[in-house]
Amino acid sequence: MTEISHPAWIEIDLDQFGKNLQAIRRRIGGALLCLPVKANAYGHGLVPMGLAAERFGVDLLAVACLKEAIALKEAGVKVPLLVLGAIHENQMGDLIENELEFSISSKYKANLVREECRKRGRQCRVHLEVDTGMNRTGMRPDTAVALYQQLQSDPCFQIRGIYSHFATADLPKDPFVQTQLQAFQALRAKVGPAPLLWHMANSGGVYFHPESHLDMVRPGLLAYGLTPDGSVDAEIRPCFSLKAKISYFKVVAEGEGISYGHLYITKKQTRIVTIPVGYGDGYQSALSSGGSVLIRGERFPVAGKICMDQFMVDIGMKEAYVGEEVVLIGKGGTEEISLWELSTLAKLSPYEILCQFNERLPRHYRTGAIV
Ligand SMILES: *Cc1c(COP(=O)(O)O)cnc(C)c1O
Repeated sequence: MTEISHPAWIEIDLDQFGKNLQAIRRRIGGALLCLPVKANAYGHGLVPMGLAAERFGVDLLAVACLKEAIALKEAGVKVPLLVLGAIHENQMGDLIENELEFSISSKYKANLVREECRKRGRQCRVHLEVDTGMNRTGMRPDTAVALYQQLQSDPCFQIRGIYSHFATADLPKDPFVQTQLQAFQALRAKVGPAPLLWHMANSGGVYFHPESHLDMVRPGLLAYGLTPDGSVDAEIRPCFSLKAKISYFKVVAEGEGISYGHLYITKKQTRIVTIPVGYGDGYQSALSSGGSVLIRGERFPVAGKICMDQFMVDIGMKEAYVGEEVVLIGKGGTEEISLWELSTLAKLSPYEILCQFNERLPRHYRTGAIV
């Protein structure tokens, strides 16, 4: 399959991704590493990242829903797949037949799954989800103890783990982390010794709260190279860049308005280049004011409103040619535009910024072997 040429693209550095996974491994001791690849692997590309993570030896891949799990299976991913989201009645057949691991978050769902397993004469592998304070999905700890005891002796169920999710672990010192962790540990004491994976830590848990690592961790953002607080880490670095080729160059006289609404007025005669990326690709219109790009390692401001498919940049009296590479996110020379910078400007979390980049932008995967 040859790819149709497009003047803007996302570059994923798979070597750096591998280094991030290794760095996480070193920090979690012997705990298993489950990599969340939901929402198109945080915009990095579901199947390529799933396959790369498998090569790098992750123990499980986690997705939000059945659809994402099936896409990975169809691509030939062999590592166990865990569906984190609440399951729906008409998905149970597919969850069981595809041998997916999935979440049981209520007695009601457990009953539906049991019925489906009996009907098909099959077993299923599940993780019980416990709510310790996120108030999203999951049973109360007491319900979990009762359900665990019931399902444990039921031949339909192979209970692989029990898990919970933090609401505030991205804050280094938030006391509610301990409240949740204690509730989870108390549940563990009640369930007693059993060959189960107890897991709770997301990126914040992995990064700030080592006591939460337990038997398995589920860091998403951190694995893609972003620390939960935007701090710079010596080993864990972003593997995502957004680049484009300049599509137009012109000289604009002093006092002219640029783009819709003429919100940017040139202060003197200047050179304006056009970049073929817009909010239609997921490049936030909030970057219209304060956004910048790198050309030849130098930073230049976005000029005027970001359009659906393009935006303008004021390069002053500097040089740049049509077809030249521009960095919208990532490194250029010694300069860098980080996702955290965009996040601050757009007042959106890095998760949201990443998830906005859609299929119009091709994703190029780089490894040392190719470059
Ligand atoms: C998304 C998600 C994660 C990963 O969260 P990060 O903040 O990206 O590390 C882990 N566990 C569950 C249940 C999730 O929904």
